[in-house]
Amino acid sequence: MANNVHVIGAGISGLSAAVRLANAGWQVHVHEATQQAGGRCRSYFDAATGLVIDNGNHLLLSGNRHALAYARSIGTEAGLVGPERAQFPFVDLATGRRWQLDLGDGRLPLWVFDSNRRVPDTALSDYLALSPLVWASAARRVGDSIPTSGPLYQRLVQPLLLAALNVDPPEGSAGLAGAIVRETLLAGGRACRPLIAREGLSAVLVEPAIRLLQDKGAAVRFGHELRGLGTAAGIVSELKFGDDAGMLGAGDAVVLAVPPRPAASLLPGLTTPSKFRAIVNAHFRFNPPAGQPPILGVVGGLVEWLFAFPERLSVTISNADRLVDQPREELAQAIWVDICKAAGVQGDLPPWQIVRERRATFEATPEQNALRPGAVTAYKNLFLAGDWTDTGLPATIEGSVRSGNRAADLVLAMRQG
Ligand SMILES: Cc1cc2nc3c(=O)[nH]c(=O)nc-3n(C[C@H](O)[C@H](O)[C@H](O)COP(=O)(O)OP(=O)(O)OC[C@H]3O[C@@H](n4cnc5c(N)ncnc54)[C@H](O)[C@@H]3O)c2cc1C
Repeated sequence: MANNVHVIGAGISGLSAAVRLANAGWQVHVHEATQQAGGRCRSYFDAATGLVIDNGNHLLLSGNRHALAYARSIGTEAGLVGPERAQFPFVDLATGRRWQLDLGDGRLPLWVFDSNRRVPDTALSDYLALSPLVWASAARRVGDSIPTSGPLYQRLVQPLLLAALNVDPPEGSAGLAGAIVRETLLAGGRACRPLIAREGLSAVLVEPAIRLLQDKGAAVRFGHELRGLGTAAGIVSELKFGDDAGMLGAGDAVVLAVPPRPAASLLPGLTTPSKFRAIVNAHFRFNPPAGQPPILGVVGGLVEWLFAFPERLSVTISNADRLVDQPREELAQAIWVDICKAAGVQGDLPPWQIVRERRATFEATPEQNALRPGAVTAYKNLFLAGDWTDTGLPATIEGSVRSGNRAADLVLAMRQG
C-alpha cells in the first residue's frame, strides 16, 4: 500500500512537491490554510476592475528550466507565452528615449559584441566589468562587486537585479545576483525569453496542478491550517489542525511548504529569514494601444515594468516598502501618469486596483540569505520547501519549484533508505 505524504501549503513550492510525489505513486494529502491554492502566485476576480487579475505580475524567463518543467508536468507549458526572441523594449521616462535590447536566441551572450544590440551608450568593457558577479560569494554585496552607476547599470543591471532580488541592487546578495546572471544573461538569449501566464497565474500554474492531484486520488483540503506538530523519537508523528488531528503511520512523510513565519512557529528553533520586502502591483482596465509590447521595461519613473494583457495595463514596482502606506488613490494616479507616458496613451484614470504584497519576498541581502535553512530537518520524515529555503536563488517561482522538487526527492529517498 502507498505511503502517505502530507504537503502543508498549496503555494508553488507545495504544489510542485505534491505533483512529483503523486506521480511517484505516493498517497498525497495537501493541507492549505486559506480557501485558495497558489499562495503568493494566484489570480482572483477583482470587483473594482471587473476583471480576473493576478496578485502580482509574474515574469519567468525561458532559462527557468525547473519552473517550465513543472508547467510541462501539469500540461500547461504552452500557457507561458512570450516573444520568439529575447527582446526587451525599454523606455526612459525622464528623457523619452526608447531602445530595444536584443539578446538573440543563441546559447552564448554574443549580443554584447554587437554595438547595435547592446544597451545604448555602452561598450564591451562595461559588460566585462560585470564578471566579478558571476561567481561572487554569498557573503558579498552587489555594490561591492560591480559598478553601480553608468548607462549599463541604469538601463539593464539595475532593472534586472531589482526585479530578481526585490531589494535595491547594491545592498543585494552578490551570490544570488550571480546565480541569476549565470542562469539567464550568461546563458544567452535562449535562456532569456520573457514568459508570462497570459491567461492568469491560477489558470496556468495552480488550478491544473490541483486537478492533476485530484485525478490521481490526492486529498486537497482548503481552510485546513496546520497549527502544531507532534513528534516522537526523531520523527513527526502527529499533525494538529485545530479542530482535528491526524496520526502519521510508519513511513509517512511531511513536506512543510509554508512561509518562514508559520514555519518558525511550527518548528521552534528553526532559523529563517526574518526581513521581507514589499512589491506593489497596479492594474488598470484599459485596452492596450496597438503595438504595445507584452512587457515594457521602464526606467526614470515610479513604474518599473509595464505589462499589456487583454483589456488591462498592469505595472510592477519592486522593493516597494516606501509605497505601502501611501494613499491608494494618490498612488494609482501617479502610476497612471507614468503609464500614459510609457504607453503613449491619454485619458482619465480608468477603473483600477492596487495590490500591495507587504511580505512579497524575503530580503535578498547577504545577512538574510545566510538565514535560509536547507530542506532537511531534525525530524527524519519532515522536509522543508519554500522560496525562502536555501535554493541558491532569490525568492522566485524557479526557486520555489526547485525547493518543492528537492523536498519530494528527499521523501522518495526516505522510502529507499
Ligand atoms: C507581487 C509578487 C510578484 C512576484 N513576481 C515574481 C516574478 O515576476 N517572478 C518570479 O519568479 N517570482 C515572483 N514572485 C515570487 C513568487 O510568487 C514566490 O516565490 C512563490 O509564489 C512562492 O511560493 P511558495 O510556495 O514558496 O510560498 P507561498 O506562495 O507563500 O505559499 C505558501 C502557502 O502556505 C499556506 N500556509 C501558510 N501557513 C500554513 C499552515 N499553517 N497550514 C497550511 N497552509 C499554510 C499559505 O496560505 C500559502 O498558500 C512574486 C511574488 C509576489 C508577491
